[in-house]
Amino acid sequence: MTSNKQVALKPGDTIGILGGGQLGRMLALAAARLGLKAQVFSPDPDSPAFDVVQHATCAEYADVEALELFAADVDVITYEFENVPAATAMILSARRPVLPNTKVLETTQDRIAEKDFVTALGIPTAPYASVASAQDLIDAIGKIGLPAVLKTRRFGYDGKGQILVREGDDPRIIWQGLATKSAILEGFVPFEREVSVIAARGANGEVVCFDVTENVHKDHILKTSHAPAAISEALAAQARDIAGKIATALDYVGVLAVELFVVTSGKEPTLLVNEIAPRVHNSGHWTLDGASVSQFEQHIRAIAGWPLAQPVRHGSVTMTNLIGNEVLDYGQWLTRPGATVHLYGKGTPRPGRKMGHVTEVKPR
Ligand code: AMP
Repeated sequence: MTSNKQVALKPGDTIGILGGGQLGRMLALAAARLGLKAQVFSPDPDSPAFDVVQHATCAEYADVEALELFAADVDVITYEFENVPAATAMILSARRPVLPNTKVLETTQDRIAEKDFVTALGIPTAPYASVASAQDLIDAIGKIGLPAVLKTRRFGYDGKGQILVREGDDPRIIWQGLATKSAILEGFVPFEREVSVIAARGANGEVVCFDVTENVHKDHILKTSHAPAAISEALAAQARDIAGKIATALDYVGVLAVELFVVTSGKEPTLLVNEIAPRVHNSGHWTLDGASVSQFEQHIRAIAGWPLAQPVRHGSVTMTNLIGNEVLDYGQWLTRPGATVHLYGKGTPRPGRKMGHVTEVKPR
């Protein structure tokens, strides 16, 4: 059972979710609303997703026996993070359908593979080069110019594993500072704004996108998302088209996010793909309260082999992340007219940790 088309769940069936963070938690809640069960697999005993499911597996991703038992308990398997180890994905996909398919993980776990894939589709990205030594970095700077951003090829998130390289910096010190064996150098994009497309692709190949979202980061972490993005309908259509092309080329089933830079260099604004997230995404949280269907439900529908919904946005929607100690103000948000509060049930608010979010909808 590896083909996308073979999955057709019935109410009462069980979705296996790899990863126990807030995304897994919100996926499990969406599954419950559709009469489906969810079983969460996570090595962290404090996983917020464990709180909302009846069955959980707390084990390492390399624990073959635990993976086999988990697979036997569920009807389809999905994931809330892209760094699922290849061996884990292989063991599971031999037993149950894993959606999105495991090839997607290979492409999106490696920034070079991802950029090569996007470029091969004729979709623009920042200029980039592979870097595996200080000399490579010097050569890459010669090719791409400065400023540029040096990123680890794997395991980067929220700006972690990234260094801005400026004119006058010593490439050897920068290379040592990143402390990695393989990296990518990207030209620094002087973007006007950052947007993302949350797209769903069903098992039948149908692609449905949410309205393009505009994202503001603070200290490299998403702070607010606003839908719709303040871009022309023509540019929004291009962004949706890019997401659709990517989803189709990956034979994707489920929800994915495509992060894009909007660049204006005197003429018409253009789009560059920054990153693909093969999962539900923080910039799609507004859909929980701001649209007729959420990204989480849309993902569950897709992997269950059910029809996708056609989302209708309820108005002008803003999502604000509660990061670190900001969550301690939850009482104020609870009394704010029109605000919908989501708290993830995480214990300690560490700096940079996403603790919850708030959605505010201004009806049209
Ligand atoms: P990433 O982890 O690649 O999504 O990067 C996190 C954030 O860093 C992005 O959302 C941008 O705000 C910024 N960033 C990443 N790459 C670039 C780039 N090539 N040029 C300008 N800003 C970037």
